[in-house]
Amino acid sequence: METKHPKSLDELKSLILTQEKILLASAQTSTVIPWSQLQKLAPQYFEDGKYPSIVSLQSLPSKMELRSIEAENDSIYIEGPVSWREAEQFARSHGRRMMTMPTEDLASVLAGLATSCTGEHAFGYGTTRDQVVSLSYMNDLGEVNLLEASKSLKSILPVGFNFEALSEFQNFYQLNYKNFKNAPFQRLNKATDLLVGSEGHFGPILSATLETTKAESVSHLFIPLKHKWYEDFSSHLKLFQWGQKFRGKILAFEFLDCDSLKFASKIDVGESLNNNQDYLFFEVLENSVEELFESLSTNAIDFEIDVDQIFNMESAKFQLLRKSIPRAVAEHVDRLKIIKQGTDVQVSPDLFGKLLEQYKIFKNKNIESILFGHFGDAHLHYNFFPKNSWEANKVQIELEELYSALPKWGSVSPFAEHGVGMIKKKYIANFNSSLNEGIITILKNRYAKNKLFF
Ligand SMILES: Cc1cc2nc3c(=O)[nH]c(=O)nc-3n(C[C@H](O)[C@H](O)[C@H](O)COP(=O)(O)OP(=O)(O)OC[C@H]3O[C@@H](n4cnc5c(N)ncnc54)[C@H](O)[C@@H]3O)c2cc1C
Repeated sequence: METKHPKSLDELKSLILTQEKILLASAQTSTVIPWSQLQKLAPQYFEDGKYPSIVSLQSLPSKMELRSIEAENDSIYIEGPVSWREAEQFARSHGRRMMTMPTEDLASVLAGLATSCTGEHAFGYGTTRDQVVSLSYMNDLGEVNLLEASKSLKSILPVGFNFEALSEFQNFYQLNYKNFKNAPFQRLNKATDLLVGSEGHFGPILSATLETTKAESVSHLFIPLKHKWYEDFSSHLKLFQWGQKFRGKILAFEFLDCDSLKFASKIDVGESLNNNQDYLFFEVLENSVEELFESLSTNAIDFEIDVDQIFNMESAKFQLLRKSIPRAVAEHVDRLKIIKQGTDVQVSPDLFGKLLEQYKIFKNKNIESILFGHFGDAHLHYNFFPKNSWEANKVQIELEELYSALPKWGSVSPFAEHGVGMIKKKYIANFNSSLNEGIITILKNRYAKNKLFF
C-alpha cells in the first residue's frame, strides 16, 4: 500500500482529484487503525473491499497563532500537522492551556478533531467538539470549506435535505448522549460537527481554531484505596459520586488499578506507588486543594480512605506515569503484532456500578488484564493480555458478548475515545439505529458521494 506525502494544498488537491480511494493519515497513533499491519489485512477490512492509498498529511506546512476572540478568551489557530504537545507548549508560552489533551500527545490536533479525541481533561473542561470555534476541510472536489461552530449544521445544509429526520436525530442525541465524551455517532448539531468525529470520511481537516483556557496552577493528588476494585468497589463508587460535585475544580479524575501499576513498573515508573493497591488520582486547581481535602477528611470513614496517605506528585512525574500505561499497552500490542483487545466504554453515571460488575466478570476469567482510565467520566479502559491463541479467542468471545449486551443497558457509548476505525467497525452495528444510519447516509451521499475517503 503506497503512502503519498503531499507538501502543499495544491498537491493534496491533485491527489484527491485523481478520485483514487484514500486513507488519510496524520501521526498514525490511532489504536483502531492497525497502521503497522495494514498491508496484511484482508480486503474486507476496507470499504468496498478496495485497498486505499495512504495520504499522509504530515508534510503539509504547519502554523500556530493565538487569536483573541474576547479579551479573556484567547483561541489557538492551528494549520497542518501540529501535535497536541506542540500546541500545549505554544499555548503555555502565552499563559494559556489547551483544554483537551489526549494521553498520546504526539497525535495530531487536526486528526484529533477527526476522531473527536478527548482525554483526562474532559472531566474539567468538557469535550473537544465544544472547544472547536471553526475548522476548514477539503472536500472530494478539492474545494476548501470553512465551518463555524456559531452556525448550526442545519443552516449549511442544502434546501431539500431531510431536516425533520435530522431534528429527530438531534433530539435523540440530546436525550441520550449530551454528556458523553463521544456517542457511537457524530453529534451533528453545530456546522463544525459535520467534520468532528468524521474519522476522515468527509475529507481532510486542514486547519482549526480551538478555545484555550488560562493556565492556572494545579496539583496532582493520589488517593490510595483500601480495597482492590475486583474485591470490593463500594468506596470507589462513593468517591466517583463525590467527585462529580467538584467538576471544574477537579480537572482530571483518573484511576489506576493495582495490576496497571505492575505493568507500569515494568517500564520503571511509579516506584513510589504500591502495586498492591488501587489509586484514584486527580489534577486539581491549586486554589481548590484545601476545599477538597476538607471534604475528603469529613468523609474519610465512609470512603474508607486514610487522608494522611494522600500525596501530591510533581507534575512531570504525574504526566510520565499517566502516559506510561496506555503507551506500554500500545507497545506491547505492536511488539507482538496482535490486535489490541480492550474496551473504551463510557456509561451514564447510574450505570457505572454495572460496568464495574461486568469488568469483575472479566477479571474472574483469570486472563492477565488491567483496568485504568477516566474514572470520573465513567469511562475506563479494560485491557486484556492473552498469553496464547486459546486465551485470545476467549477474550474475543467475551468482548463480542459485551458489545452485544451493551445497547440493552441504556445510555452507553462503546467507543468514547479512540473512535471506530477498522477494528471496532464490526461492533458499531449493534449501536446504530435506522435514524442515525439514515442521516449519515444522506450526509455521505451529499458530502462524500464518491466514497474517496476511507
Ligand atoms: C498510548 C495511546 C494513548 C491514547 N490516548 C488517547 C486519548 O487519551 N484520547 C483519545 O481520543 N485518543 C487516544 N489515543 C488514540 C489516538 O491517539 C487518537 O485517536 C488520535 O486522535 C489520533 O491522532 P493521529 O494523529 O495519530 O491520527 P491517525 O492515527 O494518523 O489517524 C486517525 C484517524 O483520523 C483520520 N485523520 C487523520 N488526520 C486527519 C485529518 N487531518 N482530517 C481528517 N481525518 C484525519 C485518519 O484517516 C484515521 O481515520 C491514544 C493512542 C495511544 C497509542
